[in-house]
Parts: sequence; structure tokens; C-alpha cells
Amino acid sequence: MTNTTAVKTALVTGASRGIGAAIALRLAKDGFYVYVNYTSNEAKAREVLDQISAAGGSGELCRFDVSDSTQVDEKIAAIGKTKAPLSVLVNNAGITVDSLLIRMKDEDLEKTLSVDLKGAIYCTRAAAIQMMRQRSGSIIQISSVVGESGNPGQAAYSAAKAGLIGFTKSVAKELASRQVRVNVVTPGFIATDMTGALTEPQKEAILRSVPLGFFGAPDDIACVASFLASSASRYITGQVIGVNGGMYM
Ligand code: NAP
Repeated sequence: MTNTTAVKTALVTGASRGIGAAIALRLAKDGFYVYVNYTSNEAKAREVLDQISAAGGSGELCRFDVSDSTQVDEKIAAIGKTKAPLSVLVNNAGITVDSLLIRMKDEDLEKTLSVDLKGAIYCTRAAAIQMMRQRSGSIIQISSVVGESGNPGQAAYSAAKAGLIGFTKSVAKELASRQVRVNVVTPGFIATDMTGALTEPQKEAILRSVPLGFFGAPDDIACVASFLASSASRYITGQVIGVNGGMYM
């Protein structure tokens, strides 16, 4: 395949399930050639790719672990050399390993920071090289409402998600002169595998803190990612956009 600037490409990390899958489908509908990243769940990632194809879009699977900078650099460089340099990066891959601070294990802290914060930093660094050369691009970080509000039992996750916000603001300033925009989306409670693990009483307690009175769906995040990926948001960079039903204002 040869390089062609006519193709718009988007890489969505953690696109095999949940919010990432919805974003991948939405960007494919918007006309992007979508790289569907995952780390272990190939069957689910393939289902997402099949849905993209069925809707008339195109893309391919792209397996790598965002917390491994060697894999990230190799895969993102390879993307830039095949179809076209990346136009959009969505750093969505994430995990939660919840525990109270005094019970937090070193390995759980390390794993959470490695995937949720360092993973996004590695991907942003690798993609920024291509975007700066093109003098255009949009990088979208999927953080969390708890990175803004805090949440007991989620200190490590909150630290990673809050870290993404500071990281984004710095990088947005570094890349703005090359017309590369970097923004953060902070979802509230969205119904996915991640939140499916909560008990009904836990869900009911969370629901009481959502002024709009219902949980969000992955598409609620995908709509905002679609906007941030498009030229309609050309004057928006370094911003944090809450999509949380009013849970945090
Ligand atoms: P999810 O359903 O648990 O899906 C997680 C995705 O991340 C999967 O595609 C998984 O791939 C991928 N992933 C995990 N570790 C990875 C790694 N090391 N390298 C590459 N991919 C990896 O999660 P979700 O609920 O859709 O959440 C998506 C993002 O939104 C996360 O960053 C999360 O923190 C954030 N968020 C979610 C909520 C919510 O209420 N759901 C709220 C706020 C923020 P495999 O399928 O291969 O395992």
C-alpha cells in the first residue's frame, strides 16, 4: 500500500468492547479508516470490525498492549507507513483495580498507572510525531469523572485519570502551533463490562448522584469523540469535556 493523504485514519485503543467499540464504530461511520486496538480479546475486536464492515466502513485489527512502549512505537510507526499518517488517536484503553489506599498493592498501583496513564502517554508521543509532520491531528483522551471529583476506593485510578488531564493540557500547548489538538473526555457512569462488575446496591447509590437520573451509554461518549475528531471542533484544544449526566459540575 502506498501513502495517500486522502485516507483519514483513526486509532482507537481498547476498541474491542464498551466505549472504545462505540467510538470505533462511530468514527468509521464518519469516514475514518479505523484501527481497532485490543490486547487480549481478539474475538470481540473482530466483532467490532465486522460491524464496521457491515455498516459500510473500513478498518483493521491492531493488537498491542498500550503499557508496552516498544509495542506502541512499532505499531503506530507501522500505521503511519502503510495507509496514511494518523489523523486521530483516541486513548481509550483502561483498567480499574480498586482498593482503599491503605490496602493498595504496589503491583496494582503499577498496573493501573501503566495502562491508564503511561499507555496514553506512549500512544500520544508516537502519534504526535506523525501529526506534527502533517500539521494536523486530533488526540482524544478518555479520562473519567473520578479524575476530577475523586472517589474512595479508586485512588490509583483517579490519580491516573487526573494525570491524563495535566498531561493533555501540557501537550495541547506543545502541539498547538502544528495544529494538533489534544482534548480530554471525562465520562461519568457508562454501562459497560467495567461497570457491570458493580453490585445493584452500588449502582443504585451511584444513580442517586446523577442529576439526569440515568446511566450513560457508550454512544454518549462516541458522539463527543466524533465531534472532537472532526473539523467542527477546530478551535477546541486543551479542554476537559464532562459527559456525566451532571454528576460533576
Ligand atoms: P471495558 O469495557 O472494560 O473495555 C476496556 C478496553 O480496554 C477493552 O477493549 C480492553 O481490551 C482494553 N484494554 C485493557 N487493557 C489494555 C491494554 N493494556 N492495552 C490495550 N488495550 C487494553 O472499559 P470501558 O468501560 O469501555 O472503558 C473505556 C475507557 O473509559 C477506560 O479508559 C475507562 O477508564 C473509561 N471510563 C469508563 C467509565 C464507565 O463507566 N464505563 C467511566 C469513566 C471512564 P481487551 O478486550 O483485549 O481486554
